Amino acid sequence: MIYLDNNATTSLLPEVRAAMEPFWTEHFGNPSSAHRFGRLARKAIEDAREQIAQSLGAFPDELIFTSGATEANNLAVFGLPRSRGVILSSGIEHPSVREAVAALVQRGYSQREFPVCSDGIVDAEAFDSLCDGEVQLACLMLANNETGALQPVRALAHICQERRIPLHCDAVQAVGKIPVQFHELGVTTLSFSGHKLHGPKGIGGLLVRRGVKLTPLFHGGHQERGRRPGTEPVPLIVGLAKSIELAHRDRQNRFDHVRQLRQVFLDGLRRRCAPIFVNGPEHDSLPHTLNVSFPGCRAEVLLMRLDLAGIACSAGSACSSGSLLPSPALQAMHLPDERLHSAVRFSFSHLNTLNEIERAVQLIAEVVCEIRQLTADDSAWSAPSMFASR
Ligand code: PMP
Repeated sequence: MIYLDNNATTSLLPEVRAAMEPFWTEHFGNPSSAHRFGRLARKAIEDAREQIAQSLGAFPDELIFTSGATEANNLAVFGLPRSRGVILSSGIEHPSVREAVAALVQRGYSQREFPVCSDGIVDAEAFDSLCDGEVQLACLMLANNETGALQPVRALAHICQERRIPLHCDAVQAVGKIPVQFHELGVTTLSFSGHKLHGPKGIGGLLVRRGVKLTPLFHGGHQERGRRPGTEPVPLIVGLAKSIELAHRDRQNRFDHVRQLRQVFLDGLRRRCAPIFVNGPEHDSLPHTLNVSFPGCRAEVLLMRLDLAGIACSAGSACSSGSLLPSPALQAMHLPDERLHSAVRFSFSHLNTLNEIERAVQLIAEVVCEIRQLTADDSAWSAPSMFASR
């Protein structure tokens, strides 16, 4: 299998696994215990906190460990607003932000959305008029998980700071791939997740500016200074720190390699699968993500056939009928139907090789050609339900 779904999750690096190993076995203490086992576990956590905070341009006491970015995003969205008012967010946010905001709307908040341009970048010109005195919280991700589009977070942070509006930034797809410096970015809170950067699943973090009031989601313990109670998962925290350390150390090499892979892949698809459309900006984006529409191919059929051919990639979001709905992020870009329903996301990691990419292009070209041929034959007599729009 050729794994091109690294925005969904990444494999655990052997160095990360090795760093975690002793904390599954001999160093099993509860970090809250006063004896030696506990002290050793506590030190591992505090060393990890210090190292992660330093890599992300934050103070150690600004980092809260969570079970991942879904929890970190929920913690920020529910924990930051101080009174009922308007929540400002974009249609391209991850469901862990979008649906948390929708839950606040159910509780009597109202919502405003940043307009999204056709390239998947929110329209910064709208910031000024949308950020008024009613806004209790603004949310804008740093890099979109569907298109890789980098968002103008710094520009929004500037306006939010002036107007004393807390700004939450989901930086899950950016941390470990490009430099992310919390204080420089100027946001109030920032979330990230271990398993997107070759770290373990089930661990992530929320950076929270010093002095900011945050209402916890959970109650019943003193851990993380009461803001995220519960016994800390020491091995996962150690693994998270190791994966960030490696990502930081090798960032430029990884980035250059992934950028080259994407270019070779895209050039190959353009040569062998024309016509194709790139969804999202071709340049102001993370090279780790490439969202492509293949007119004449339904995304769910393409995905299934690519899986059989040995390529793992993704598209849209599952719905109860078993078919795929176009991703809300692509819908927010107002793409034409044909592009929405034929969009597939390929996402790369530094572990992918040039050989894999060349082989993937060849396989994709064969599958796309076959499906287009079938679609053309079918539509000559009638469109089968698989291709009819739902
Ligand atoms: N935000 C973004 C942009 C993501 O891509 C993801 C993972 N799909 C999440 C949040 C949720 O992260 P986790 O899996 O750690 O809960």
